Amino acid sequence: MTGDQYDIVIIGSGMGGLVCGDVLSREGYSVCILEKNKQIGGCLQTYVRDRIIFDSGVHYLGGLDKGQNLYQVFKYLGIMDKLKLQRMNGVFDKILIENDDKEYAFAQGYENFINTLLADFPNEEKALRLYCEKIQEVCSRFPLYNLRTGGGFAEKMDVLEIDTRSFVESLTGDKKLQAVLVGNNMLYAGQPGKTPFYVHAMILNSYIESSWKCINGGSQIGKLMAANIHSRGGIIRRNCAVNKIVVEEGKVSHVVIDGDRKIYGDHFISNIHPAKTLEITETPLIKNAFRNRIKSLENSISTFTLNIIFKEDSFKYSPYNYYYFKEGRVWSMADYTEENWPLGYVIFFSPGKTKEYASAMTVLGYMRYDEVKQWENTFNTVSETDDRGEAYDVFKRAKAEKLIDCVEEKFPGIRDSIKTYYTATPLSYRDYIGNDDGSMYGIVKDFRDPIKTLISPRTKLPNLYFTGQNLNLHGILGAAMSGLVTCIDLMGNETVIEKIKNA
Ligand SMILES: Cc1cc2nc3c(=O)[nH]c(=O)nc-3n(C[C@H](O)[C@H](O)[C@H](O)COP(=O)(O)OP(=O)(O)OC[C@H]3O[C@@H](n4cnc5c(N)ncnc54)[C@H](O)[C@@H]3O)c2cc1C
Repeated sequence: MTGDQYDIVIIGSGMGGLVCGDVLSREGYSVCILEKNKQIGGCLQTYVRDRIIFDSGVHYLGGLDKGQNLYQVFKYLGIMDKLKLQRMNGVFDKILIENDDKEYAFAQGYENFINTLLADFPNEEKALRLYCEKIQEVCSRFPLYNLRTGGGFAEKMDVLEIDTRSFVESLTGDKKLQAVLVGNNMLYAGQPGKTPFYVHAMILNSYIESSWKCINGGSQIGKLMAANIHSRGGIIRRNCAVNKIVVEEGKVSHVVIDGDRKIYGDHFISNIHPAKTLEITETPLIKNAFRNRIKSLENSISTFTLNIIFKEDSFKYSPYNYYYFKEGRVWSMADYTEENWPLGYVIFFSPGKTKEYASAMTVLGYMRYDEVKQWENTFNTVSETDDRGEAYDVFKRAKAEKLIDCVEEKFPGIRDSIKTYYTATPLSYRDYIGNDDGSMYGIVKDFRDPIKTLISPRTKLPNLYFTGQNLNLHGILGAAMSGLVTCIDLMGNETVIEKIKNA
């Protein structure tokens, strides 16, 4: 045998891959993570423009107060006390609607959440209480989310089939409240008649429990886990794309990097999209029916990202995020046309030198991959640069200007405060994350067929596992949970949950 040999080889250093690497190295396994990018972390990556740090995929986090689920996971991993975090102040999100001057606030803590919305919907206490009770009840059915061992699938089976839209609409006849309650559905790329309520519940619950921002970006989460892995002798190789997963004698023998270099292992964990994983795994042991099923699963929509840098002390800082949608379009923001784009956006602010003014803001609006398909033969990252051409720049500029026009409606004068801006498209996400379409959150979950869209960490090969946002749930919490699910499956026991609970 030539090349390197490890107990665990992990393809991709996103949140899920790093959690697996950290947990398994802690359990005594030798670990090697292979990452195609210069920077580790996948969506945890940050980038700097005009000396301001921008996040690619960690704008705020939930569940980080003492004893809450993500807090316990981070505590167990030994990173909780090292993270530079700031708790958001009461309200975490505000919902804005076209032709409506009100700002509907979502506050932390269930009683605060209810009371804050009651100010705008004074007759809807019953609906709001039922809504909050249902969120908590649904979340209680997911053992790992509650760091419980022993729960079987049966416990959550009947809540997997609840439709977010029908449930919210069953609570109240007030159309405005129905829309407000799903007003931040860009958080999970909500789709009418598809998004399961458990997805909505687990994400909302986490932010209602407590909401936090990373000071100087979310890449610190990845860096701290990487330091843990290194401290136990684990290896993380950057600029190292895996092009082949090689199967011999019924199991994965090695992966191939740099054209011909082989990395051997006892177990292999793929943190890349399951469809991409199968694409690079040649074996008759994985039947075409399974490959086609995975390939046919829909991915969530992508995004157009606008990072605005403000002139000094010119634009007020908001300590909460804003989600905006055009009247009547809360469930159909992805169904835009060229003329009516954008039908919605979310804004995240970066503080300036003083708390009063913002230094920058990030605006995200949905964008379908087909809009950038004409440039799909280009590939551009910091490690492998390519000019996508003048027409692409013109396209991006036009989109940015349209998005700014739309933001201007609720934030008059914003244009005058802009010093400069930078943009990213579905192609940027595709190239940095390594999926086919720049999908934000991976495989779309569907309450009509929940089992089909919940991906098991197990594959048809005994020593190849999946991990990351495509399995159970996206987001930092979701991908961390997926990492744990993968480790539990690989180790064959749930002792890690007890350790997390007692951390
Ligand atoms: C725009 C945006 C905003 C978001 N905002 C938030 C937020 O505010 N809060 C929150 O909790 N979540 C947010 N998320 C979601 C969250 O960031 C993701 O769900 C999570 O980080 C995904 O983790 P993952 O484990 O699936 O790995 P990914 O982030 O998908 O990383 C996969 C890794 O695999 C690597 N890779 C791919 N192919 C190969 C290969 N062949 N060889 C080697 N390496 C490879 C990639 O380079 C990458 O590093 C956001 C996501 C996006 C896109």
